Formats: sequence, structure tokens, C-alpha cells
Amino acid sequence: MSRRFFVGGNFKMNGSCDSLKAIVENLNNADLDPQTEVVVAPPTLYICNVRDHIKSGGKANLAVAAQNCYSASSGAYTGEISAQQLKDVEVNWAIIGHSERRTLFGDTDDLIAKKVEACLAEKIKVIFCVGETLEQREAGKTLEVVEKQLAAVGEKVKDWSDIVVAYEPVWAIGTGKVATADQAQEVHKAIREWLGKNLSSQTAEATRIIYGGSVTAANCKDIGSRPDVDGFLVGGASLKPEFVQIVNANK
Ligand code: PEP
Repeated sequence: MSRRFFVGGNFKMNGSCDSLKAIVENLNNADLDPQTEVVVAPPTLYICNVRDHIKSGGKANLAVAAQNCYSASSGAYTGEISAQQLKDVEVNWAIIGHSERRTLFGDTDDLIAKKVEACLAEKIKVIFCVGETLEQREAGKTLEVVEKQLAAVGEKVKDWSDIVVAYEPVWAIGTGKVATADQAQEVHKAIREWLGKNLSSQTAEATRIIYGGSVTAANCKDIGSRPDVDGFLVGGASLKPEFVQIVNANK
């Protein structure tokens, strides 16, 4: 089974009306690989602007994601948005479990699993992030940490057909320290094996596992050429014109 290459752009808390318009125009006008699925995640405030201007449904298949989504459907949760609301504004993707959510905003494995469940119930597809800190890697605990993060969602969700797993070593996010292609492949392979063992061989074969952590135009081809790397989640470089080259890494 061939897995469609997937590139996500996580704008984080960056951008303005003008700068995001320019980024979207650049993507709309670029010669993007039609084999690559591209999903960009602007700050929530701008999500409808980006949705309105991005060329979705074209051959590049551009879509918009939220950077987070709460587990409840509505109510007294100041500052949060729900999967129901994403559905209402026709945004069909959400990033869940990003390491910045885990470390800065206290998202636990359990809450993340609930958020994933809530999204899938509304047919919001999920980019589900996992990854170890430098301390955990140096202690030889990378796979243990990643498998625990996977298991939290695996306990609640058995159908992973609307999930893309993003392996994002925390030490590589926004630091310029990229994992080597071998390091990425090793963990991606282990994630695929975990999916096979704990869900099904079909899930292991079909699930896209993307790499995130200081991906640039300069390093994307090498990492993207590994058999278990099915694309990227890109932070800083998704705000720059070189994002096009990352989308086209396999072209
Ligand atoms: C991210 O935010 O998911 C990310 C991978 O960031 P960066 O590409 O900037 O390391």
C-alpha cells in the first residue's frame, strides 16, 4: 500500500492578516507536488481568513488545521475551541498533543487522548504528535516514552484511519538541531511496529508517520527518503517560501 506524502505547516502563534495572506498566496501560486497532501495550521484567530483564501480542492489538496482543540463539545471553557466548532467552520484537521501544548499548557496523555477522541467523533482528522525530550533520549528512553504516548490514544481509539502520527523529538523543535535521517527512521519504524502489534497490520501499513523538528529545504530530501517517513510537520520553515521546497521534497 502506498501512503500519500503529507506535509503540515504549524504556524504556531505567528503571523498577521498581511503576513498570512502572503504565505497563502505563495502556496496558492506555487507548483506544489500533487502527490503531497498539505495542511497548514494558522493561529485560531486567523483560521477562517486562511480557510477563505487557500486554494483547497485543487490538485495540491491544500487544507487548514487548528493547532489544538478541546475535548468537550461546548460550555464554560474560556479560551478553548471544540471539534464541533471546527466542523461548523469547515476546518477538518487539528494538531493534537504538540510538545508545546504538553510542556507549556499541561496537556497530559489522558487529555490528549480525549481530544483525539473528540475530534474523530466529529470527523476532524488529527495530526497526533509524540516525541521525547533530550533528557529522555539520553537516558535511552525514547521508545518507551513514544510508546506510552501512543498507548494513551490507542486505549481509547481503535480506528486510526483519520490520524497522522507526527514524531517530533522535543530537542529538535525550533532548535535547529534536526534528527538524522537514521534517527528519524529508527523511531518511525518502531512506531509502525507498535501500530501493528497493538492495533492491526493494516493500521501499521496505512498510517502516515511524519517527522517534525527543524525541517528545512536543506534537510527534507534526506529524511523524507526513508521508508517509514511519510512527510513532515514543519514549524519555523512553514512561514517561509522554502516551505514549497519541503512540500516538494519527493518531487
Ligand atoms: C513544530 O512546531 O511542530 C516544529 C516541528 O517546529 P520547527 O520546524 O520550527 O522545529
